[in-house]
Amino acid sequence: MCGILGYCARAWDPGLEKFFGLQGFNLQHRGQENFGATYSNGKKFSHFKDRGLVSQVFTKERREHFSETRPLIAIAQTRYATAGGTDAISAQPHWMTLLDGFYSNATNGDLPLLQREIQDLENSGTVMLSGNDGEVILKKILHGARENGGNLVAGIRRLMETTPGAYSGCLMTLTELYLYRDPHGFRPLYFGRWRDAVVFSSESCAFHETDAHIEREVYPGEVIRFDIDGNRTHTQAVPTHTPRQQCIFEPIYFARPDSRVFADTKEVGHFRYLLGSQLADEHPMRDAAVVPVPDSGRYAANGYAGRSGLPLRELLVRNPYIPRTFQIAGQANREDLVRLKFTVMHSLLRQYRRFVVVDDSLVRSTTLRILIAMIRDAAGEAGIDRRTVEVHVRIASPPIIGCCYYGIDTPEQKELAAANVTLDEIAKSIDADSLAYLSLAGLDAVAAEFASPEQFCHACFTGRYPTEYLPRTR
Ligand code: SF4
Repeated sequence: MCGILGYCARAWDPGLEKFFGLQGFNLQHRGQENFGATYSNGKKFSHFKDRGLVSQVFTKERREHFSETRPLIAIAQTRYATAGGTDAISAQPHWMTLLDGFYSNATNGDLPLLQREIQDLENSGTVMLSGNDGEVILKKILHGARENGGNLVAGIRRLMETTPGAYSGCLMTLTELYLYRDPHGFRPLYFGRWRDAVVFSSESCAFHETDAHIEREVYPGEVIRFDIDGNRTHTQAVPTHTPRQQCIFEPIYFARPDSRVFADTKEVGHFRYLLGSQLADEHPMRDAAVVPVPDSGRYAANGYAGRSGLPLRELLVRNPYIPRTFQIAGQANREDLVRLKFTVMHSLLRQYRRFVVVDDSLVRSTTLRILIAMIRDAAGEAGIDRRTVEVHVRIASPPIIGCCYYGIDTPEQKELAAANVTLDEIAKSIDADSLAYLSLAGLDAVAAEFASPEQFCHACFTGRYPTEYLPRTR
């Protein structure tokens, strides 16, 4: 998963440097492995990309250079790797200088037939540098454009007609910006206006703390072209797939709670709150304290507590400076990080004996297994008989039984807890007194408040994938 962002303006505004950086900070949650940007003042382009956070890569020197060149178009990406490495070559944006011009592209999402697409490109004599979806997409667009007299809209249409997958993208030349979104609409993409500039972003939260106005999402199958003379054209390059396949995992897990994705008025945090309420209806508990897994389970736990009338207690404290474990490779590394990341409040263990621990999802079960062990260990340290402490786990989404081929970095099938053993076996393996998940019908009931449920992809919960795919090697 990644975040893309940027702008296209008719005239340089010194505030754009700060605005651009702020957009990057506000999309940092979508990827912490790389940050990169390409920008053009209409005559000359510049670019950088590297490992690290926005604050580490968009350095003072780079910010000064950015402002000095007075760019009228800029695109950027915050990345975590689902294909290719984390080196700078695999980072985005990718760029190419050809005889007929300069092109740079960044995307959010994955191609489920990536290996086949790479093979096809290589068979046609194209040199691949990274093995990354974004590079494949750029090269396929340029091939398609070349077959159509250099028309980039036609190139993007050709991509959409021939390449199944999840890709919300931005493509720039020295003077133009193109926004596009795959016909299924797996990943979100919004655009709007900040002062005199057109601005865009994967999530609405990128516009927070600015006075930017969001106009709307880019429609699935649509291409929007902007240029530095202020022109704008909309092309529905291919029809929007019916129904759309918006990733339900975005509002469950990935997007920022203060963002709007796939809904015009309601925020993701509200979606998660409703999931928790529904979970309390489906799997109630009595005489217990509701404990959020911070921060992922916080909104759902609020919903669970609100609906059940049980007290909400922050038994688990999270160190915010440890990165998201979901995105860390290697099991031992991941387990160490979970232990580093959380501590347990002893005073609450003395006050309560039954806890309902709520999280948004359960992928490998690593985090919950370690948290429950930590809670039981902390009870022992607090002088409480650990066998008298009950930990009941409630998950605010259905069991994940399949990998994602559309940009969420779920692990291989063999590592997915619910794909391989029964719920009772998972409960036993994590030492929970009980374990229950939200039903698929319950998820759909909540999703219906945002969009019609069939407009969401549920493939990782059902195993029914909306496109062809090839298993990925990691
Ligand atoms: Fe989202 Fe799951 Fe579909 Fe992937 S398979 S796009 S994570 S709902």
